[in-house]
Amino acid sequence: MKNILKNFLIFFLIFAAIMAIFGLFNQNAQNIEKISIAKLVEEINNEEVKSITVKGDELDILLKNESQQSSRKEASESLSEVIKNYAVPAEKIAKVDVTIGEESNSGFLLGSILPFVIPALFIIGLIWFMMRQVQGVNSKAMTFGQSGAKIADQKQKVTFQDVAGAKEAKEDLEEIVDFLKHPQKFVAMGAKIPKGVLLLGSPGTGKTLLARATSGEAKVPFFHISGSEFVEMFVGVGASRVRDLFKKAKKASPCIIFIDEIDAVGRQRGAGLGGSHDEREQTLNQILVEMDGFDNQTNIIVLAATNRPDVLDPALLRPGRFDRQVVIDLPDIKDREAILKIHAQKKPLEKDADLKVVAQRTPGFSGADLANLLNEAAIVAARENKKTIDNLTVLNSIERVLLGRERKSHILSTSEKKITAYHEAGHALIAHILPHADPVHKVSIIARGRAAGYTINLPTEEKKMQSYSDFIDDMAVLLGGYAAEKIFFKEVTTGASNDLQKVTAMAKKMVTQYGMDEKLGPRTFGQKEEMIFLGKEIHERRDYSEKTAETIDAEISNYIHNALKTAEKTINDNKDKIEKIVAVLIERETIEKEEFNKLLA
Ligand code: ADP
Ligand code: MG
Ligand code: ZN
Repeated sequence: MKNILKNFLIFFLIFAAIMAIFGLFNQNAQNIEKISIAKLVEEINNEEVKSITVKGDELDILLKNESQQSSRKEASESLSEVIKNYAVPAEKIAKVDVTIGEESNSGFLLGSILPFVIPALFIIGLIWFMMRQVQGVNSKAMTFGQSGAKIADQKQKVTFQDVAGAKEAKEDLEEIVDFLKHPQKFVAMGAKIPKGVLLLGSPGTGKTLLARATSGEAKVPFFHISGSEFVEMFVGVGASRVRDLFKKAKKASPCIIFIDEIDAVGRQRGAGLGGSHDEREQTLNQILVEMDGFDNQTNIIVLAATNRPDVLDPALLRPGRFDRQVVIDLPDIKDREAILKIHAQKKPLEKDADLKVVAQRTPGFSGADLANLLNEAAIVAARENKKTIDNLTVLNSIERVLLGRERKSHILSTSEKKITAYHEAGHALIAHILPHADPVHKVSIIARGRAAGYTINLPTEEKKMQSYSDFIDDMAVLLGGYAAEKIFFKEVTTGASNDLQKVTAMAKKMVTQYGMDEKLGPRTFGQKEEMIFLGKEIHERRDYSEKTAETIDAEISNYIHNALKTAEKTINDNKDKIEKIVAVLIERETIEKEEFNKLLA
């Protein structure tokens, strides 16, 4: 599209230039006053005319006062006939010096040729322009098989210092840096240098960043391509892109090839419907072939990243391919603080901004989430025309990232506000009272994102595992809003629908995945399967009987009912506390942790 525009512009400019030249030529004549024959006759009668030069049908008139004029007559009539027709006395005509000049050649030429030349030029230009288009398509087809891998900018070098936390991952990659820097050391020992390293971790944990940092540390070129770039409309493109990528990399060796989101091509082969997986298979095969083709002299290390190791083809993971796996976990509290510190470096944070507290309040946040959090804080501060970012702005952006921005305009009616207050008070109270529930950090009835209000309860310490009791209490907390609405208003609103979804999903997982149900015992139900059909993943194959399905349903309902009972009992026993929370919420809309604990003490 850009090309078409560009060509058109060039063509248009040429055209405009021709027109301008033509116009210039005409302008010469325009300096001379043009007069009618009648005026000329009048001038002759007044004896003002000195001479007339006839060039074809053009008359150049020179007056006695030396000024020039021009006129035109019909080509078929001679000048004297024309003048005679106006009944000019003969003696007056005799006083004018009439010469028959040569017809102005250039003018004639331009006048007669240009009308043919311009359309011809136009047509030639059009043809030329169309041919270029066709050629453009051709040449694009030729670059189709090229990898389009981007070589990282060497100036914007990222090193391990830019990556906070991820200690083990860095140690593992340190080794890779060593391989790239001193391959002889390992070859002399008869060791085989690994070819592939797979970075595993949830989205935003810094896989891409670490890969870049590895090349920065080793000071080698970094070829970056995303798995999805291999998959194109046309079959075979992916494979040829892989070939091209490895060819380029071999020339630049030692270097790192980074295949981001490798699950786009590396899914298990032979699973799936539709045509696209054929292409994926070929691409994947080509990657495997290329990696097998490295000899010990080729100092290329292929890094790949994915957040879905479960779907990868086993062939990718066997020794000699991506046999090294580096797992990058979500950051823990110390790492979160370190990540926040890195991203706070370029931002004017006020001294009171306590990143430790932010780290405490953000379990489950990835590095990308944390970077985003500080960015949000900076945006808010800038919009409020502040010079620096204060603590409150940073803390508020936690919720902003978690739940969406505050919707102050989303004004609840008084009765809605009351319902929301009771609903959130229900969640908060149960979270406070039940021993295995996470303590409350904040309760609010300010609408955020799609929620009318929210209660944030966070674990006191980092949790990698959850127990049966945790789930039982969490379900009660989730139903706290629903129970409170039921108890205080005798009916429920749509406000609880999200809670119900969560509680159902939780109960289902307990029964079907964690083996926590007494009746159904320690087994899983339903097999996750990777099937891609029309771009949608169809999950879960049933591997149990109809009868078991009924039991599962019954058990899920059972858990939910019990959780509701717990919630209702807790609220009924503590109605006075609910009223206390509600009063403060309606007055001030938000209660922070310390105040909340004081309130219920
Ligand atoms: P992934 O590839 O795992 O999805 P990225 O590497 O693209 O995640 O990380 C996204 C952004 O998050 C990075 O550009 C960086 O700003 C930030 N980030 C993630 N992890 C870290 C970390 N450990 N230290 C510093 N910044 C991080
Ligand atoms: Mg990434
Ligand atoms: Zn709720």
